[in-house]
Amino acid sequence: LERDSLLRKDHNIHVSGNNIPSPLENFSELSSRYGCESYLLRNLAELGFKEPTPIQRQTIPVLLSGRECFACAPTGSGKTLAFVCPMLMKLKHASKDGIRAVILCPTRELADQTTRECKKMAKGNKFYIKLMTKELARNSDFSKRPCDILISTPLRLRLAIRKKKVDLSRVEYLVLDESDKLFELGLLKQIDSVVKACSNPSIIRSLFSATLPDFVEELARTIMHDAVRVIIGRKNT
Ligand code: ADP
Ligand code: MG
Repeated sequence: LERDSLLRKDHNIHVSGNNIPSPLENFSELSSRYGCESYLLRNLAELGFKEPTPIQRQTIPVLLSGRECFACAPTGSGKTLAFVCPMLMKLKHASKDGIRAVILCPTRELADQTTRECKKMAKGNKFYIKLMTKELARNSDFSKRPCDILISTPLRLRLAIRKKKVDLSRVEYLVLDESDKLFELGLLKQIDSVVKACSNPSIIRSLFSATLPDFVEELARTIMHDAVRVIIGRKNT
């Protein structure tokens, strides 16, 4: 525990919550502590990622322990990998059990970028990773197609929910990325319908953001249970 707090101090990691898992010292702990498969470590190495960024050090173990979290770290600090890595590890392998994970991004561009990053990290493991397009939201019956991870904006996903093109009742992981922007863009209603449609009681929700204004924190507290709060540096810079 002494070791945990030193490591957190070294990396400017601030946490609150019950029973917070130890931060990662390095990526190889993904296999020694959590039995990470080799494809993922290989992808990290190929991308030249030598050590976890501060946000990754703390949120990866939190999510791998099955805890919900809300996390705040500056732009460019590696938040995508912080939720994609534990998601891939938890999902383990592709399946045809319907949509298992959802990542909400504020804009189409960010959704696109997140999809690419996700596919890079999943290389060597045949996950079904899909970007929700307008076309797919209108015309595609997702219940007939395998989809492990679905990446979408709240608008597109709500359209698909309304048109009954997606069944989100089995979603195990829901990420709200760039949640400060999601809220600034006034997407609260759309987010709410996605949160409601993800009705699996054992769902793990997480929220990532570059800033943590009070309204984001309030929402985090209303939709999450026993969440761990992780802040890198200061809350609103
Ligand atoms: P954020 O979402 O916090 O703005 P991103 O997830 O987009 O940041 O990551 C920013 C950049 O850092 C990306 O180019 C990403 O590939 C890179 N990156 C992520 N994790 C690491 C790491 N552990 N080591 C080096 N680079 C990393
Ligand atoms: Mg990001």
